Amino acid sequence: MKTSTNVDPSELAKFSELAHRWWDPNSEFRPLHEINPLRLAWIEEFTPLTGLRVLDVGCGGGILSEAMARTGAEVLGIDLATKSLRVAQLHALEGGIKNVQYRECSVESLAHELPEQFDVVTCMEMLEHVPDFESVVSSCSRLVKPGGRVFFSTLNRNPKSFLFAIVGAEYVLNLLPRGTHEYQKFIKPSELAHACRASDLEQQSIRGLTYNPITRRYWVSKDPSVNYWVATQKSAR
Ligand code: SAH
Repeated sequence: MKTSTNVDPSELAKFSELAHRWWDPNSEFRPLHEINPLRLAWIEEFTPLTGLRVLDVGCGGGILSEAMARTGAEVLGIDLATKSLRVAQLHALEGGIKNVQYRECSVESLAHELPEQFDVVTCMEMLEHVPDFESVVSSCSRLVKPGGRVFFSTLNRNPKSFLFAIVGAEYVLNLLPRGTHEYQKFIKPSELAHACRASDLEQQSIRGLTYNPITRRYWVSKDPSVNYWVATQKSAR
């Protein structure tokens, strides 16, 4: 049985070190705060979340988990970075949000514990930080109910994404701390599509996120060449 073996401790250390800044909108997590309304709106284009049971894999400080809970979903956020989860828990407590919970566990172990228990699974900006992303994709599929939706976002692997996501974001614009991303771990849409198909997830839509450094605005586009989002649905039995 696969449990917590699919994790890179140095990746968790990066996020733990910054954990106290998760909810500072001007911190290293600013890009996540800025894209959060866009990704929430995109998810709700496929399925309104109110009343649904939602799992957020690699939830970090809970930026997306909490936003989904605020729409009325029953949210469970999981991550393996202890400090980030504490920050997430505290923030929800301070905000009086009762319909979000957090747990420190791997997606692989949760897939054994709670198979087909969730209406929606989100796994955003996380796949490019794990040693074996296919294992995460297949666990997400196992966790969602037949007919349920799984949403992924990650970074494409090509010269443009190297230039924009690493050189541009980490070295020129200082949007992200240096070393946040490793190019070899980036995932081509074809590779993610292959993993989804192998796990019974049908890809329904792919979108890109584009950033204009002059206006400092993000928008959703059809260009998946750097950061991209994939909406999938598990076959109904
Ligand atoms: N999904 C959140 C946070 C993205 S940052 C958002 O989009 O707002 C990436 C997160 O993945 C971090 O919180 C990090 O701790 C987590 N992570 C990295 N490897 C992981 C693993 N193997 N299992 C679970 N979470 C992991």
